[in-house]
Amino acid sequence: MYRSWLEVSLRQIAANFRAIRKLAGVGVTVMAVVKADAYRHGAVEVSRVLEEAGARWLAVSNVHEGIVLRESGIASRILVMADFLPSSRPLFLEYELTPAIHSLEGVREYERLAVSAGKVAPFHLKIDTGMGRLGTRASAGEILDVLGATRAARLEGLMSHFASAPNYTTAQTDEQIATFTAVLRDLRNGGVDPALVHLSSTVPLAYGRTEAWGNLVRPGHAIYGYVSPAKGAAAPSLLSVQPALSWKATVLEVKDVPGGAAIGYGGIYSTARETRIAVLGVGYADGYPHRLSNKGRVLVQGRAVAVLGAVSMDLTTVDVSGLTVAPGDSVTLLGVDGSESIDAQQIAKLAGTISYAVLCGISSRVVRLYV
Ligand SMILES: *Cc1c(COP(=O)(O)O)cnc(C)c1O
Repeated sequence: MYRSWLEVSLRQIAANFRAIRKLAGVGVTVMAVVKADAYRHGAVEVSRVLEEAGARWLAVSNVHEGIVLRESGIASRILVMADFLPSSRPLFLEYELTPAIHSLEGVREYERLAVSAGKVAPFHLKIDTGMGRLGTRASAGEILDVLGATRAARLEGLMSHFASAPNYTTAQTDEQIATFTAVLRDLRNGGVDPALVHLSSTVPLAYGRTEAWGNLVRPGHAIYGYVSPAKGAAAPSLLSVQPALSWKATVLEVKDVPGGAAIGYGGIYSTARETRIAVLGVGYADGYPHRLSNKGRVLVQGRAVAVLGAVSMDLTTVDVSGLTVAPGDSVTLLGVDGSESIDAQQIAKLAGTISYAVLCGISSRVVRLYV
C-alpha cells in the first residue's frame, strides 16, 4: 500500500511502438526517445521492452542517461541528443554512445578524441534550421571543410528539430524543412551523404508531414500514448496510440465538514454546504501540480470529483460528498476509472502547462509499478 503510485503498462508501450513503426513504414527507422527516465515511465524497463519489440535505436538527453541504459544491458544504438560537454566526451567512446554534435568545433574536438583513442567514432550533426536552440548554423561549405579533415569521427546522421511542428498556421516548419533540404543537397553535392537523416519527433510523424521524415523519426510522446493537438489546418492524426501510465493516490482520511468550513492553506476554498472531504496522500512534492488548487479533478468510484482548496506539498483534498469512501481506498489522478478518464493533456490544460511537463514532473517519490 503506497500513498501514491504509478501503474505503467509495458504492453501498451510495445503496442504504441508497433503502431508508430507501422505508420513510419519500411525504410524509416523509429528511434524511440527515452530521455527523462522515459517521460517518467522508467527508462530501463521501457528500453528493454522496446528492444524486445525490435527497436534498434534509442535516444536520451545526456550521457548519464545513456550510461544507465548500458549498465542495465541495453545494447541498442543510443543517440545522446543534448550533452556534448568536455567532461562527457570520453564517455561516448567508453560506453559506445553516439553524440549529437551541435557545432563544428565540437566535431573537431570529437575527431581529436577519437584519433587519440584509436577508435572510429560515429556522430550525428545537428543543424539549427531555425529553432534557435542547439545546432550549428554553419554553411554546407564550412561543414564540408571540417568533415574533409576528419577520419576517426564519422558523420553518420544529419538532424534538426522543429520549433512549431503542431502549428499549421505558421510557415516555420516548412521554412525549416527547406533550410535542411538545401544543406543536405549541398553536402551530397560535396560528396558527403549521411546514412541517417532525421528531423521529426511525434507531431510531424503523427500528422503525416512525410517530407520531414527523412529515413528516421524520433518519437517520444507517442511512445507513451500522446499526440499533441495541432493548430490550424492539419489533417487528423494518423497515429492510434494510448497512454501507458496511470497515477493513483490513497485516501488517508474522510470526514464531513459543515457549510462555511475553510479547506487547506490560505482558506482559498470554503464549503457552500455540508461536504464530505477525502484527504489524499499526494501533493506537489509528488509532482501533482500546485496549479490544480481549486481546479483539479480526480476519479473516485468512476466519478470525477473536484480538488478543494490548495494542493499542498504532501496532501490534496477532494470533494466526495454523496460517496462512500474510506481511508485506504484508491483514487485515480491520471488514468481511467469506469467510463471516466483523465489524461496528462487534460491535467495540463487545467494547470496551465503542457502534458510533457505533467508526465516529467511526477517525482521520484511516487512508486512505479509495472502491470
Ligand atoms: C524530446 C525530443 C524528441 C521527442 O519529442 P516528442 O515530441 O516527445 O516526440 C525528438 N527530438 C529531440 C531533439 C528531442 O529533444
